[in-house]
Amino acid sequence: MIRQPIVSVLGHVDHGKTTLLDKIRGTSVARREAGAITQHIGATEVPIDAIYKICGKLINKKFKVPGLLFIDTPGHEAFTTLRARGGALADLAVLVIDINEGIMPQTVESINILKRYKTPFVIAANKIDLIYGWKNCKDEPFIFAIQKQKEEVQQSVDEKIYKIVEKLYELGFSADRYDRIADFTQNLAIIPMSAKLGIGIADLLLVLVGLAQRFLEENLKTEEGPGEGTVLEVKEERGLGKTIDVILYSGTMRKGDTIVVGSHDEPIITKIKAILKPKPLDEMRDPRDRFLSVDEVHAAAGIKIAAPNLENALAGSPVIVADDNLEEVVNRVRKETGIHIETQEEGVIIKADALGSLEALAYELKQEGLPIKMADIGDISKRDIVNAQTIGNPLYRVILGFNVKILPDAEKEASKIKIFTNNVVYKIIEDYKEWMDEKKRELE
Ligand code: GDP
Repeated sequence: MIRQPIVSVLGHVDHGKTTLLDKIRGTSVARREAGAITQHIGATEVPIDAIYKICGKLINKKFKVPGLLFIDTPGHEAFTTLRARGGALADLAVLVIDINEGIMPQTVESINILKRYKTPFVIAANKIDLIYGWKNCKDEPFIFAIQKQKEEVQQSVDEKIYKIVEKLYELGFSADRYDRIADFTQNLAIIPMSAKLGIGIADLLLVLVGLAQRFLEENLKTEEGPGEGTVLEVKEERGLGKTIDVILYSGTMRKGDTIVVGSHDEPIITKIKAILKPKPLDEMRDPRDRFLSVDEVHAAAGIKIAAPNLENALAGSPVIVADDNLEEVVNRVRKETGIHIETQEEGVIIKADALGSLEALAYELKQEGLPIKMADIGDISKRDIVNAQTIGNPLYRVILGFNVKILPDAEKEASKIKIFTNNVVYKIIEDYKEWMDEKKRELE
C-alpha cells in the first residue's frame, strides 16, 4: 500500500501560506462526493480523485499516489522539522515566495531547513495577480490563465521569476518555471500562482503528485502494522482532559492500543481511550461537539488521541503503538525524544514549543556563531530566569524563546534579564543581535 505524502507549507511571513492552504481546503469545498477534500486534525487530505477533478485538462495520466495530506499549520519551523523515524515528518514541502518581494530572510531560513532535512520541495511563486489584472482568470491553472494575458504581463511574470531563479542559483539551486523543466531531478520547479484567485493551484497539486510519484514511492510504502506517528500539539479538550493531536505516518492505530509517547521525563505508556476526527461540517449541530470517534485509523492521517496521563506529552515527539515489544518501543521513544543540541559553558538559554523548533533556533544561532548554554522545550519559567541570572557574560544573560510564552510566575522576575520571544526565528536573532550591539557600546 502506498500512503499519501505529507506536505508542509512554509515561507516568509505574509507571502501567502495561510491563504494557499485555505484555498486548497476550499477547492472542491465541502462536497461529500467521491474525491471530496476531507479535513483531518492538523491536516487536510486532497484525494487523487479530487486532484484529477481540479487539474482537468492538465492531467493525462493516472498516479499511484492516493492523494496529498497537507499539514494545516503553515509556516513555522516546528511543523516542518517534525520528525518521523529520525527523518522529517513532511515528505514534501511547498515554499511560498511572494513574487513581488522575492526571497526574504525567512525564505532563506526555510531553505536551510529543507536542505538540512533533505526534503524535496517546490516553489509557489505567489501573488502574480498583483502584476496586473487577472480578474477573469479565477480558479484556473496558471498555464491557461497566462495565455489570456497581454504580452507585457507575461514578460513581467517571467522577469520576476528569473529574479527568483538568480537568487536560488546563489543559494545553490538550479530552478525554472515548472512547465519549462524537463527533469525534476535536476531542477527546482517554480509554479507561478495566485493563492487569492486560485490561479495555479491545479499546477501546484499536479507537480506535487508528480514529484511524489517519481521520488517517494519507496518512502510512502506503509506496512500493515503498529501505528507510528508524531505529536503535533498537546491540547486540553473539554470533557477529554489533555489530548494529543497526531500525524499518523505509518501503520494502524486502534482504540485500546497501548501507546508510548515522548515526554519531558520518561516516555509515557498509556492506552488509547478514543481516536477522534473532525465531524463533517453539516453533521455538526453543536460547535462544542466537534469530534467523531473512530475505532481505527490507517496512515497517513491527522487524528486526536484521548488517553490517560498525557499531561507531560511533548509536541514533536513520537507516538508509537506497542504490543509485546513494549521495552523496545520505550527505548526508541526515549532516544528519539532526546534534545541533541550542542551546549557550551558560556552561552544563552533557548526555549521553544517543540523539538523541531528548538533545533531550528539552535541551528540558526550556530550559523551566527552564538553559543547556547541550555536548551529546553516549554514556556519560559521562573527557573529559566533564575538560571539566566547566573550567566557570567552579560551579553549572554538572555533567554531566546521561539513560539513560547512567559509563564505568569516568571513574568514578575522577567525584568531582571533580557527576554526575546517571537514566532519567527530570524526576528529573535535580529532583535538579540541589535540589543547585543547596544549593550557592547554601553559596556565600553
Ligand atoms: P502568511 O503569513 O504567509 O500565512 O500569509 P497570508 O496567507 O496570511 O497572506 C498575507 C496577505 O497576503 C493577506 O492579506 C492575503 O490576503 C494576501 N495574499 C495572499 N495570497 C495572495 C495572492 O495570491 N494575491 C494577493 N493579491 N494577495 C495575497
